Amino acid sequence: MRITVTQAAENRRRKRPESGEPLGFGIHFSDHMFLMDYSHGTGWRDARIVPYGPLSLAPSAMVLHYGQEIFEGLKAYYARDGAVCLFRPDRNAERLNRSAARMCLPEIPVEDHIAAIRTLVRLDREWIPRGENASLYIRPTMIATEAGLGVRPSAEVLFFIITGPVGAYYARGFDPVRILVEDTYVRAARGGTGEAKTGGNYAASLLAAKKAKEKGFDQVLWLDAGHRRFVEEVGTMNIFFVLRGELVTPPLSGSILPGVTRDTVLTLAREWKIPVAERPVEIDEVLSGAADGTLSEAFGSGTAAVISPVGSFSCRGQEVRVNGSRTGELSLRLYREITGIQYGDIEDRHHWIHRVE
Ligand SMILES: *Cc1c(COP(=O)(O)O)cnc(C)c1O
Repeated sequence: MRITVTQAAENRRRKRPESGEPLGFGIHFSDHMFLMDYSHGTGWRDARIVPYGPLSLAPSAMVLHYGQEIFEGLKAYYARDGAVCLFRPDRNAERLNRSAARMCLPEIPVEDHIAAIRTLVRLDREWIPRGENASLYIRPTMIATEAGLGVRPSAEVLFFIITGPVGAYYARGFDPVRILVEDTYVRAARGGTGEAKTGGNYAASLLAAKKAKEKGFDQVLWLDAGHRRFVEEVGTMNIFFVLRGELVTPPLSGSILPGVTRDTVLTLAREWKIPVAERPVEIDEVLSGAADGTLSEAFGSGTAAVISPVGSFSCRGQEVRVNGSRTGELSLRLYREITGIQYGDIEDRHHWIHRVE
């Protein structure tokens, strides 16, 4: 793949956040973006990097009406030795292709996708924040651009990648979160689009998340669409429980997102000879386990937070605490190991780290 690069003129560079200013998440965007077009019949063309700016779309572009869209999320960061690194970007590129297949969008060769990320990150490396655990968030996105209101897979597609500096997720400490168990709304049903990283899943989740926030909760825990009985995932993360010493997480049965961090956690736990089970988890088992202490830890896993300890679950008006709302031992061990590998303090035995330069 050949990428043409049009750099932003010096006097058109975007304003960088002040040093010391909290970066937040998804607020700042770097100088450049990657774009590539696709047409049914001729395939991908015109891979290019251009100054970050608005896209031009027909108001009838299919993505705006029927939501044919997918995305990814990963980070570039400075390792301890000053190298710019990516964590398992091949996993994100492969997952984008699985999401694409589900949403009738075209696949991208994994090596082209990674090459696009590398070229873009290298060009905008000055945007990678230096602060502890801060990073450059990378958002690959694919949208249906064909103009027309017929309901069918778009014959024209745009793939783009934008990036932007984000702050450390735990700027205020590794605090366990309060979770509301959602028993009215559902995120995804088996056979639906839950296992694809597609915008519509998030649109469907907004109302429940908004109501939970109003009641003072940080996230919602989704239950299965059929019975509201089995645990699925939490907000934008996969969920893990330590039940009677066993690390348990719901299986990838079609309605949950196959997280890269989830896979990393499972791989490490198995190496550490911790008993691991990917099996359906009943919400009642979680609630009674929290109450009687057989549930010793619960945590979410995802790229942004890496590991997010759960302090309590609230269900039908009753709140039960997990481990006295303190961060569990395994949660902390996993967090330290994964960030240690990412930053180069711990040997990268699995070749998870891709150096950009
Ligand atoms: C992206 C995402 C995750 C976490 O995936 P990672 O690859 O670990 O970042 C979990 N659940 C949902 C719904 C997601 O969109």
